[in-house]
Amino acid sequence: MSEPLIDLRSDTVTRPTPAMLEAMFRAPVGDDVYEEDPTVRALEQEAAARFGLEAGLFCPSGTMTNQIAIKAHTEPLSEVVCEQTSHIYLWEVGGIAFHSGASVALLPGERGRLTAPQVEAAIRPVNVHYPITSLISLENTHNRGGGSCYELAEIEAIAEVARRHQIPLHLDGARIFNALVATGQESTEYGRLFDSISVCLSKGLGAPVGSVLLGSRAFIQKTKRIRKVMGGGMRQAGYLAAAGLYALQHNVERLADDHRRARQLAATLAAQPYVDFVLPADTNLVIFRLRDEMPAAQFLARLEAQGIKASAFGPQMIRFVTHLDVDDAMIGRIEAALAAVRS
Ligand SMILES: *Cc1c(COP(=O)(O)O)cnc(C)c1O
Repeated sequence: MSEPLIDLRSDTVTRPTPAMLEAMFRAPVGDDVYEEDPTVRALEQEAAARFGLEAGLFCPSGTMTNQIAIKAHTEPLSEVVCEQTSHIYLWEVGGIAFHSGASVALLPGERGRLTAPQVEAAIRPVNVHYPITSLISLENTHNRGGGSCYELAEIEAIAEVARRHQIPLHLDGARIFNALVATGQESTEYGRLFDSISVCLSKGLGAPVGSVLLGSRAFIQKTKRIRKVMGGGMRQAGYLAAAGLYALQHNVERLADDHRRARQLAATLAAQPYVDFVLPADTNLVIFRLRDEMPAAQFLARLEAQGIKASAFGPQMIRFVTHLDVDDAMIGRIEAALAAVRS
């Protein structure tokens, strides 16, 4: 029997386990547009409660939860302050302009992290020539920054700026549980500091589909209409929500294993002669640069020949992602393959 393929392209590639499928199969469901699906309600309530927030909104994707939140917080002719490589700007198809008619103030972060003085300096004075700053959005962990995490003190300082200027603060927390597990921070601190939080269930948590947007009851009530106009009102969605609920209950603590494996891969990569540098592997993303004499396409082809998939992440840059479907035996195979690329 040939060895299984190892897919390091993303933590979105995981397949539901038999236990997760069993939970989906057994889920009580109803029509969620009529607010009659008990499993969707249970997921929304459990996710919100974890962060000390009042309500949640189950959606098909993290792009949708982010874009709904941005639309709910902003008006046309206003502006969103975010990092220049943030997912909401870079990888959501220009949705801020399309859905919200809003502009962006793009700030250069340190591995995706902003500082409070940077954010404060980007807030527009009231002037007829300017858009109105209507939202500040942070991303934690930061994808493009290689899974970097914020210090809570920095978020507190940014939240203080937001409060003083009466500007809402959104978190793209696609991988917030990776940040919580890596830092030991409390999820309720995030609920206290942010007006809205988007959480992906289909990344490291291992659900096949789904994200949940969290906030106050009034905020989530407003977002329901926006989800509907985007075509995200789902009917017997409890089958999918059951996977998310199972993921929240069973797959959070184990993220520490993904982080340990990512650190191990980062150390192996740093020792390879064809690797220029590796970003610190703070969570489950390992971003590294190949030396010029090793073209990215050639490196990826050599790995693929050994049954390992990864993605290019810019010129000479590669990203490896560890997740639920990458075990220690696979890490051993990846290390052997990396050593073989050398010769
Ligand atoms: C994956 C991701 C999202 C949402 O992606 P979807 O594929 O739409 O679920 C949002 N933000 C970040 C940082 C992500 O990595």
